[in-house]
Amino acid sequence: MSEKLATYQKMRDFSATPEPAGVVFENLDGRRRFVVQRHRATRLHYDLRLEIGGVLVSWAVPKGPSLDPARKNLAVKVEDHPYAYGWFEGNIGSGYGKGDVIVWDDGWWEPDPEYPDSADPERAVAAGELKFVLHGKKLRGRYVIVKTGGRPKTRGGASGKEDDQWLLIHKKDADAVPGWDPEDHPHSVLSNRTNPDVVAGKPGVWVGPTKAELKALDAIHEKGQWTIAGETTLLTNLDKVFMPGRDGEPPIVKRDIVRYYAQIAPWMSPYLSGRPVNFNRFPDGIVGAKKGFWHKAVPTHAPDFIRRWPNPRASTGETRDYMLVDGAPALVWAANFAGIEMHPWTSTAANPDQPSYALVDIDPGPNTTWDETLTMARLFRVAMQQLDLTARAKVTGQRGIQIWIPIRSGYTFRQTSDFVEALSRTVGRVVPELVSWNWTKSDRKGLARLDYTQNQVNKTLVAPYSMRPAAGGPVSVPIEWDELDDPRLAPNRWTIRDVMARLKKVGDPFAALVGVEQDLPTL
Ligand code: MN
Repeated sequence: MSEKLATYQKMRDFSATPEPAGVVFENLDGRRRFVVQRHRATRLHYDLRLEIGGVLVSWAVPKGPSLDPARKNLAVKVEDHPYAYGWFEGNIGSGYGKGDVIVWDDGWWEPDPEYPDSADPERAVAAGELKFVLHGKKLRGRYVIVKTGGRPKTRGGASGKEDDQWLLIHKKDADAVPGWDPEDHPHSVLSNRTNPDVVAGKPGVWVGPTKAELKALDAIHEKGQWTIAGETTLLTNLDKVFMPGRDGEPPIVKRDIVRYYAQIAPWMSPYLSGRPVNFNRFPDGIVGAKKGFWHKAVPTHAPDFIRRWPNPRASTGETRDYMLVDGAPALVWAANFAGIEMHPWTSTAANPDQPSYALVDIDPGPNTTWDETLTMARLFRVAMQQLDLTARAKVTGQRGIQIWIPIRSGYTFRQTSDFVEALSRTVGRVVPELVSWNWTKSDRKGLARLDYTQNQVNKTLVAPYSMRPAAGGPVSVPIEWDELDDPRLAPNRWTIRDVMARLKKVGDPFAALVGVEQDLPTL
């Protein structure tokens, strides 16, 4: 089976391209993923990829797929791509496929049930004709892709443009739209970016709720359907108390949490998009000292707009199907699911073995004061300046401070972990009286820990703008470096009730990190 990706892997230099190397694996959840990528290479084309037999079987469609049954679109079969490719957006700076890529559409597909010959898609493709149904954001309905000529591709050959020609046709069904042109729909379904946006290094764009949508939320009594950004989700227990308020404020009910996550969606999504998320769930809030629990697997009742990511490296007994959560509808669904605390992976679904940040975690011990935590954060600030690294800090919403350092693609977790360990030990040597390197809590004598061990696959820190389970609903909030000197700063200074006002006033300090690709210096 591993030979399926041999051509793909031979054609690329993974030390030079941001594309994933990927692995072959069988997706067990029974739903086959499809993706269409808009790829401005030497020539513009759209890549149609259907999950078949553990890989994405792929065709390059120069004019793009359409909903118009009158269009018979040339499709050139190209090498199988790894499953992880379905989340890849970026700029391929050199080598094969040089150009920019967005995920133009995605969703799931099935063999057309009316055609028994297509029931085994691997065999149908080998025989030169597959009838299938797409369930995407843009593409919907019944299609046929049929081979019209050309030889099978020569082994290990290049793109084979004249070699393997097919036609892609939308059937005349209820989803057909005469005159529908893919070029009229140029935005990514993952990040709402266009291809030029990707080249310019622009971050994704996500909408928040409209005033009318917020009004509709307020009008729901306890339980009901809410439509936001085009998706509808069922909200439950909206008036249930989840935690006490702070300083005499009214308690926080689930409606407040749903509203917060809807409103924060445009600000938070850049740090969640394309990443598996681990949830700390509190279905009964923290009233009566109730404890939360970790939840990673996508529930069977999750709606279609929640993207699923099967972790190809999951071993038996480990969570396999994770949720990818971004945009207001997905965040609202997660909030209703009481996934109060969101911890995204440091790596992406496209490249799970490659971190996109190095993370510093200043974790205060029971005896560490806030002033001491600030002292350590300021030492890291000096280190970042001296190393000429772009980085920002955030308060955790509990007691600590974390520092995010964006890096270029290509680093391993071992490298980021080694870097953060060396950096943290350097800082720790300046204030040995504040820091313990003991592994177990009881040996630390109440001192702080500079925890570099979160720089590992599937180890996570709380997301920027995630709420924390405490009175008042404190939030982990990014700050500017000079705010470390603001006497009003506190680790839980902001709550779900005032974060939006702060963002309107000062914006998002982490925006300075998005799209930054930097080398880790040698220490
Ligand atoms: Mn392509």
